[in-house]
Amino acid sequence: MPVYDDNNIFAKILKGDIPCDKVYEDDFVLAFNDISPQAPVHILVIPKGKYVSIDDFGANADAQEIKAFFVAVDKIAKEKGIAEEGFRSIANTGTNGGQEVPHFHLHLLGGKKIGAMVAG
Ligand code: AMP
Repeated sequence: MPVYDDNNIFAKILKGDIPCDKVYEDDFVLAFNDISPQAPVHILVIPKGKYVSIDDFGANADAQEIKAFFVAVDKIAKEKGIAEEGFRSIANTGTNGGQEVPHFHLHLLGGKKIGAMVAG
């Protein structure tokens, strides 16, 4: 598992060093609109804890953090109107997964039919 980089862009957002277009926040979770949206609704949900990836989160987060994360996903999907018609959630992981930002984040994409599950 790579070492967490405290200077990654989502760490800077969590520290308040750079702004984000926030859609949800609680003690454990922050969610904001993706700066380069790939669908009418494109939200990134991140834990406030320092986890590099979804597998790091699963292995090392505690039960309260994990529960809070998925409860937040449910709330956000309902609040943003994508729950009923459905949405795609993606956690790009590592080099082969095409992960650009090394702080675990779940993409929520909705507002239209999302295309093929894997492009290319
Ligand atoms: P990934 O390839 O899964 O690591 O995705 C990283 C995502 O972060 C991309 O969809 C970017 O558009 C998004 N992103 C990068 N910087 C920012 C930022 N400052 N605010 C919001 N989204 C960002």
